[in-house]
Amino acid sequence: MYKITLVPGDGIGPEIAKVARECIDRLGLPITWDFQDAGETAIKKYGTPIPETLLDSIKKNKVCLKGPITTPIGKGYRSVNVALRKSLNLYVGLRPFKSHKGVRSKYQNIDLVVMRENTEDLYSGIEFERGKKDTLEFIDFIKRRRKGRIPLDSGISIKPISVTASERIVRFAFEYCKKNRRKKVTAVHKANIMKFSDGIFLEASRRISQSYPEIEYEERIVDNMCMQLIQKPEKYDVLVMPNLYGDIISDLCAGLVGGLGMAAGANVGEDCAVFEPTHGSAPKYKKKNKVNPAAMILAAVLMLEYLGEVEPSRKLEKALAEVIKEGRSVTYDLKEEGDPSVVGTKEMGEAIIEKLKMT
Ligand code: NAD
Repeated sequence: MYKITLVPGDGIGPEIAKVARECIDRLGLPITWDFQDAGETAIKKYGTPIPETLLDSIKKNKVCLKGPITTPIGKGYRSVNVALRKSLNLYVGLRPFKSHKGVRSKYQNIDLVVMRENTEDLYSGIEFERGKKDTLEFIDFIKRRRKGRIPLDSGISIKPISVTASERIVRFAFEYCKKNRRKKVTAVHKANIMKFSDGIFLEASRRISQSYPEIEYEERIVDNMCMQLIQKPEKYDVLVMPNLYGDIISDLCAGLVGGLGMAAGANVGEDCAVFEPTHGSAPKYKKKNKVNPAAMILAAVLMLEYLGEVEPSRKLEKALAEVIKEGRSVTYDLKEEGDPSVVGTKEMGEAIIEKLKMT
């Protein structure tokens, strides 16, 4: 019997979460859902975007399926996703990117996995606001130590990269390769410029790679990596990198497989894991029965695989892939612009459930 925390989330979250839940329920597994609020929805109820009840539920159930959460830009509360990753120590951001037949994309046969370090780097949340006393003191400290001159009207974000966190994510990437018969790990960095932060990540990658002689290892500077992924993505397999590059390269890879509507991720720690679509809460489409539920379903596929339910996981992925390949009951983003045969989120979900009934 599994008890799983389900966070429908904000914006389009509840619509795609409902479809994913109905698909999973159709698989007949012994799952009970523990519904929880986060983000805007939780603020209305509890006055905080991350209520204790949510954290307690994930800690207890160990597994969570989560819809997208709205984060106000430049003001208001900090990202719930970042806070969840930090407070549950979900140090791995695992994102597989695979081409699906029927999805409009310039690329076919993409099969990449991005491993993003999830807990530090510029996402540490350590920031100094422009003009504040601490910020001016910090700028003065840098000047006195002859480390450089920072304009007084600057804001500052800190980028910590540790040996511990770097080794942990790189080891996870190699272990993943071993388990999933992957052949190559590429470490992505900018150590030529950030010698004391990315330099640590690169050294850790080199060190850990030596324990896995059977797996090929190589390195790419992040800007070159972006170009290589556009020009010859077939050359790459598992990519491991610090937090910020992971965020950006994930979106690049989502573009290779047909956009954010087709990309999902797992945030994994020692004790628990949170599965989610990569896209956001697309507020303009809220309650419009419009968006593609595929990324949320792919998040569910990853979750079932994590639970060891490999057969049901494959079954769900296959049903989704068939609906997309047939191209009849799919949402606007999977059709030519202006195609009148576009269906809504709910109808695409029903088509996937029909496929599940047939297998
Ligand atoms: P977004 O991903 O929500 O939407 C960008 C555009 O992508 C949408 O307008 C839509 O055209 C398209 N899109 C997104 N999901 C789709 C789907 N399932 N099917 C079809 N098309 C889809 O990005 P945004 O507008 O930059 O962010 C909106 C909010 O979401 C922000 O508050 C942001 O912080 C948050 N966000 C949350 C997460 C998360 O919870 N993991 C991730 C990214 C952004």
